[in-house]
Amino acid sequence: MEQPAHLLADAARALAEHLRFHQALGVRDLPLRGEHLAGPAAGLRRLEAAIEGCTRCKLSRGRTTIVFGSGSPGARLVLIGEGPGEEEDRQGKPFVGRAGQLLTKMLESVGISRDEVYICNIVKCRPPGNRNPEPDEIAACAPFLEGQLAAIRPGVIGALGTFAAQTLLRTRDPIGRLRGQIHAYGAAVLIPTFHPAFLLRNPGPTYRRLAWEDLKLIRREYDRTRAARGAAEG
Ligand code: URA
Repeated sequence: MEQPAHLLADAARALAEHLRFHQALGVRDLPLRGEHLAGPAAGLRRLEAAIEGCTRCKLSRGRTTIVFGSGSPGARLVLIGEGPGEEEDRQGKPFVGRAGQLLTKMLESVGISRDEVYICNIVKCRPPGNRNPEPDEIAACAPFLEGQLAAIRPGVIGALGTFAAQTLLRTRDPIGRLRGQIHAYGAAVLIPTFHPAFLLRNPGPTYRRLAWEDLKLIRREYDRTRAARGAAEG
């Protein structure tokens, strides 16, 4: 069954698109205020302020910092991991440990810099011992992730690893079946690939080659959606 938070986020996204359409037609005086009209940076700032000091789930008890997300609010590509690790918990930024360094190299291998993308996680607080986030923790954090996506409105979402891909696509299919394909995700496309930590644990050409295929697919869709937006904005 669809979760109410997802339904709400879909409705908010549709409303935001509808309002932008009127904006593009020259309507300037709608008596409305809000993050969807204020733009992605303001929307993200508002969400980050709302999550400050969060105690909505038990992960709050073990965290050092909330790892909200980082990168460009205007990003056309958003990468989503599972949850902060030890180094991320310490620094308050996503993907800054060894897996993060590999992620940076993976992006650079297809000519994408970290500055131009936005990176975040399914849950914003570190699960103890890096265990998988639990359903109540995912549900508690879902409005923040949905809010981030509604504010940024990316064209492409890269789901990093089994957990992120299965959670976002609401499936139990293994990453081996989900990766290498383009999935619809609202107005965006979602492309799952291996988690960089998995690639570190499984070095060698087999997974590296598959990850490279996924990155090329991400690059292709990234270029396509940027061109489409450029054309729509004239
Ligand atoms: N692994 C993740 O899934 N996210 C991070 O931010 C770091 C490691």
